[in-house]
Amino acid sequence: MAIIEEINDLLPQTQCKLCGYQNCMGYAQGIVDDDAALDLCPPGGEPTRVSLAAKMGITLSSERVLLPVPKRFFALIDEGSCIGCTKCLAECPTDAIIGAKARVHTTVEKWCTGCGLCVPVCPVDCIEIKDKSDVAKNSLSSKTARQRYERHLQRLEKKYENTFEQTYVTFDRSSKEEMRSIIKAAVARKNTKEESVYEPGT
Ligand code: SF4
Ligand code: SF4
Ligand code: SF4
Repeated sequence: MAIIEEINDLLPQTQCKLCGYQNCMGYAQGIVDDDAALDLCPPGGEPTRVSLAAKMGITLSSERVLLPVPKRFFALIDEGSCIGCTKCLAECPTDAIIGAKARVHTTVEKWCTGCGLCVPVCPVDCIEIKDKSDVAKNSLSSKTARQRYERHLQRLEKKYENTFEQTYVTFDRSSKEEMRSIIKAAVARKNTKEESVYEPGT
């Protein structure tokens, strides 16, 4: 395995761009080809910095912890405010957001890395990043995050026209029913919220 691939394997695959590179692979290339600093990955935290140094044969000059222990986050969409513009769909590296154009969108939490890339593109500011320690949720493994990101890139390249089909094409057929039930639950939550603010006669 090429050294760049080995370095990429050590990275958390959040694809968040916080390191200043386009994705984790870009940072791996930067480390190998351009001597990029080893402490540029906040999602990986100190453990990643230490493993990168070991892989590159670099002795860390200080025992001081430069990065905090990584925390896990996920995106929570306020379904009552979502206008279904679909902007977040293209932005999400792991295709963790589902929904059809002009309909409510929601996050599939088991696929969300908490990278935060969906937040700035939302025109109505209805996506919030939450700390996963607040709730008991499974974390996406770096291997699965990477696979989902690679599929996301392939999907963008194909540029499907139909947004609804575009959403489902990223899922295995076996998970289609699960996706339908997640959307159904999101719509139900949105409807409940709308009913609760409805005031007859106003
Ligand atoms: S997870 Fe780390 S290496 Fe990957 S894009 Fe984010 S900051 Fe860069
Ligand atoms: S839903 Fe948002 S925070 Fe979660 S992986 Fe996708 S872009 Fe990142
Ligand atoms: S960007 Fe915001 S408003 Fe648009 S679909 Fe996503 S969550 Fe909904």
